[in-house]
Amino acid sequence: MKQNNLAEPASPEKRMLTFAMHLLGRFLLFLAILIFIGMALQSKMNESLNHEVEKFNLNQAGLRSFVYHNLLRGEMEELNKIAQLIATHKITPENGVQFISGQGYLGGLLDINGQSLQGVTLPPEARLQCARTLQGAPSWCYYKDIGLVVMVPVYEGTTVRHVLCRLHSESALHDTNSPFHFSDQQEKEKFLIYDLNTQRVVIPFDKYRYSDFYDADKDAPLGLDQLLAKMEQSREASIFDPDLNEDYVLYAAPIPETSFIIIGYHEWRSVVTGITNIHRIVLWVFGLLMVLFCVFILYTFANQVAAEESSALREARDEALRANQAKSDFLANMSHEIRTPLNAILGMNEMIMREAGGNLKKYAFNVKSAGETLLSIINDILDFSKIESGKMEIVPVSYALSSVLNDLYNMVSYKAGQKGLEFKMNVDATIPDALYGDEVRLRQVVVNILNNAVKYTPKGSVTFTVKATEQTEHSLYLEFIVQDTGIGIREEDKEKLFGKFQRLDLEKNRNIEGTGLGLAITVRLTEMMAGTISMDSVYGEGSTFTVRLPQLVEKEDPIGDFNVRIEAALQDEKGYQESFTAPTAHILVVDDNDMNLMVVKSLLEKTRINIHTACSGKECLQLIQDNHYDLIFLDHMMPEMDGLETLARAQKLITSQCKDTPFVALTANAVAGVKEMFLRKGFHDYLSKPVDGKTLEAMVAKYLPPEKIIPSSGTATNAAANEQIDLETAMNYCGNDEDMQKKFLTMFVSRREAVSAQLDNDLAAQNIADYTTHVHALKSTALSIGGVKLSECAKALEMAGHAYCDGPENEKDSQLAYIQTHHQEALELYQRLSQEAKERFGVE
Ligand code: ADP
Repeated sequence: MKQNNLAEPASPEKRMLTFAMHLLGRFLLFLAILIFIGMALQSKMNESLNHEVEKFNLNQAGLRSFVYHNLLRGEMEELNKIAQLIATHKITPENGVQFISGQGYLGGLLDINGQSLQGVTLPPEARLQCARTLQGAPSWCYYKDIGLVVMVPVYEGTTVRHVLCRLHSESALHDTNSPFHFSDQQEKEKFLIYDLNTQRVVIPFDKYRYSDFYDADKDAPLGLDQLLAKMEQSREASIFDPDLNEDYVLYAAPIPETSFIIIGYHEWRSVVTGITNIHRIVLWVFGLLMVLFCVFILYTFANQVAAEESSALREARDEALRANQAKSDFLANMSHEIRTPLNAILGMNEMIMREAGGNLKKYAFNVKSAGETLLSIINDILDFSKIESGKMEIVPVSYALSSVLNDLYNMVSYKAGQKGLEFKMNVDATIPDALYGDEVRLRQVVVNILNNAVKYTPKGSVTFTVKATEQTEHSLYLEFIVQDTGIGIREEDKEKLFGKFQRLDLEKNRNIEGTGLGLAITVRLTEMMAGTISMDSVYGEGSTFTVRLPQLVEKEDPIGDFNVRIEAALQDEKGYQESFTAPTAHILVVDDNDMNLMVVKSLLEKTRINIHTACSGKECLQLIQDNHYDLIFLDHMMPEMDGLETLARAQKLITSQCKDTPFVALTANAVAGVKEMFLRKGFHDYLSKPVDGKTLEAMVAKYLPPEKIIPSSGTATNAAANEQIDLETAMNYCGNDEDMQKKFLTMFVSRREAVSAQLDNDLAAQNIADYTTHVHALKSTALSIGGVKLSECAKALEMAGHAYCDGPENEKDSQLAYIQTHHQEALELYQRLSQEAKERFGVE
């Protein structure tokens, strides 16, 4: 047993699933990479964003500090101006003090010890500030619970005499109307001034103590420690610490010439608006890329699915084609396997029919009919599969309608007769006989309908009408009408009629053989021949089938009265008679099946051809090296070396004696296209098994050298068959001289008795050598007076004589038997010829 090691190919669903998993895996991997990149990008962007925010805030801090510093300086300028006016005595100190006093702030004049001379009185701790100012430097200082004190020196010449000061009370500083209070405090940004010395908020923003930016634990602004820590490294500081406040960025910057710092809280979102837009755009782009990527993956997937599907479809189609091929192979094999034994059965049976009589013949006839039915079923199945697979071809040829109708008549009238049915045939005498169309398929179509008519008609008649319509010079429609008085077809069954495997009215038809393929094939073939088929039926009364087929007209000669032909055909019904003999011909039949060899041998026995057999290609190749054959029948399917190979080798064989011998394929392989295949491979012709005697003989006659063929007397061909003397031949032999012809004829007739007696004697004495010599002479003299038939008969006898004398020992008996049976025929022909000479030419 051969082991099938091939792994089962994965099913399309399984492959699709694997593919989807694979794709999903890749998709997830890519997604993870993308997310990772996205996150890295995000963190990088945040980092740069924070950096930008910080930068922005530092700028903002610097700016605010600058502004505040200017504000203080403005105050300083104002006080300086007053101080100058006092110094230059343009105003009195009292006036000066009044000038710098107002709501929320109080002016004052101090002596060099810090004692108040005019206006406001300062706490003792202000003395240090005063001392510094006396050195010429204006100053600012904040005093806890008191307020902000600004001092400028008042010169007298180059020495400082007094100090002009202004106190902004703490409550005034906290008042939003104070000039130190920033007017541009907003929701988005708050800032305050913090004094590092006193560690107090000098100028808070509105509701500072109630805001998120007041660190109640430390009683200090939020993030102060962090900001101060940062400020140790750089002048300005900025931090964004979500732990402190996730919505605000903190910044701080020192205010020059003071111990103050400005601390601001800036809403993160408002700082980064511009930047976050870019951020958002980048994220959008990134998101878009992700979406694009997903779309791409989906697209790839869909594409792949489509590709998978189409590959699945392709596979399904290939599978279907393979299955169809397997079906065809199976049919070819089945056909071969059934035809081979059937060939033996029918061949042997024909021999029984030829030789047996009585009951045996009857039985043999039944075997024939059953065999033929079986064969026709096989043919139907093959035909149908050919049509289904588109391999059936319409092959138009020139043909004689009369010959087709003859065959149809013979076939159907016989079957009808057996059933006790009347078979009537009406053929329009004016239809041209020589037509062009697919004769084989036309026959098949009409035979099918005629057979059905006979099959489905228990009693009554079948009428077959043939007409031509729409006839022109070159074409016509052949109309075949088959009318029966049978069971008819039910109205509801009519539609189903032409479907495959449809058998109708099964109850009634139970006992009638059939596959339901016949009409399906008929319809298809009719359509392929561009014809139409129609049916009319009355259930219980009978049916009429009409087939119309277009045919070309080759010659306009009409077919004539068909009844006359039928008569002639009836004459032909005398049973088997060999159409010719060829005792000197040698043919070789090659087949691995003994029965088949025997069938061919038996079927050709009467032709007296020398039949040689070989049971393999190898044997055939050996035989043709030593012997010449006139014709070789070669079986196709043989073990080791098949027919095709045998032929190919035979053609290449230099030592072959059969270089010009025709090879005919004789095979049970009958599927579509095989004939063409055999012809292409170098065969001269093709015969399908089972063969019948007539076809086989016709094939042999077609390929044997004409000089070896002796037509049987019963099959003389021309219309003047009864005439023994062919005047044309005779005239040829005597140089068209009528006198000479008559003289020859007279001489020939006068010698009849002597020659007959001589031959009788030779045969009686079994002196075949002399017999051969005498019959040889008769052959020539007969021909010279136009006695063609007699000459041929003599020729056959002469050949048999030669074969008897010089041929193999085992053939002697049969050669003698031939001479004995045909001797009398020769004498009779001589007799008839003499009679005719008397009647036609007055020769005595
Ligand atoms: P089958 O092999 O059964 O004869 P066909 O295809 O030739 O198959 O015919 C199909 C069916 O049509 C037959 O089985 C039969 O029922 C019906 N039928 C065909 N011809 C006739 C007819 N002349 N009269 C009645 N019934 C017919």
